[in-house]
Amino acid sequence: GGRLEGKVALVTAAGQGIGRAIAEGFAREGAVVVATTLNAADLDGLPVARRAALDVTSTAAVEALAAEIAHDYGGIDVLANCAGYVAHGSVLDCDEETWDVSFDLNVKSMHRTIKAFLPDMLARGGGSIVNISSGASSIKGAPARYAYGATKAAVIGLTKAVAVDFIREGVRCNAICPGTVQSPSLDDRIAALAARTNQDEATVRATFVARQPMGRVGTADEVAAAAIHLASDESAFTTGTTMIVDGGWTL
Ligand code: NAD
Repeated sequence: GGRLEGKVALVTAAGQGIGRAIAEGFAREGAVVVATTLNAADLDGLPVARRAALDVTSTAAVEALAAEIAHDYGGIDVLANCAGYVAHGSVLDCDEETWDVSFDLNVKSMHRTIKAFLPDMLARGGGSIVNISSGASSIKGAPARYAYGATKAAVIGLTKAVAVDFIREGVRCNAICPGTVQSPSLDDRIAALAARTNQDEATVRATFVARQPMGRVGTADEVAAAAIHLASDESAFTTGTTMIVDGGWTL
């Protein structure tokens, strides 16, 4: 059997990149996967039990989905919070809206999903919550990642707070801190930076690769492997941790 056999798992931002790889990986390991993202069409072709639109910035939408899942499955055992957005720039570039949007999508989204899905997780006897943070967080300052780094540091604090509050009730909560990972949004960021700095995309991509001590960016599957481990019972003694999957970026 798979490493997640018998578990119901919900994944946010499962349409592309790390979230998609996690949804696929969870399904491969035998979980009943509820894959969600902003635009349900992005989930087409994903081999999972259920696909649903979910805007993680909407408390009402998160609560409505939690009620549906409670009705149909009795709750979830695994929650993977993958939604996140990179705002480029320093403090001087960050207006109030950028700050608020970043915290709403990257941090409050996790507050919403955990608050909505945790009661049934507790009722089922426990579970595992996996939050996607970043090496750019409380671990490392990254250039032009002011609001982003602040949000991802908050994700680590939120993760530890949840871990400690429910440690005796069978719920574990861990964060994964990826380095630079190949994804559609990485391609978008490279294209945008190339346009802004009047360089070709290959040159900009080479600078992203050059800052990686391993000499390459990571794959979404390499992050998904960590998520499978943290979701499964093989990590039963691990909670409140930050698992760094970054090719040595923060080394
Ligand atoms: P991505 O940025 O390519 O995709 C993000 C996904 O989030 C998209 O599918 C988008 O539709 C979805 N989304 C946006 N707003 C949403 C909303 N309101 N509700 C639900 N979904 C929404 O994916 P990625 O680069 O793999 O990043 C996934 C996570 O990993 C993010 O939290 C990101 O910060 C983190 N991360 C990524 C990298 C990297 O290099 N790619 C590095 C460290 C951390």
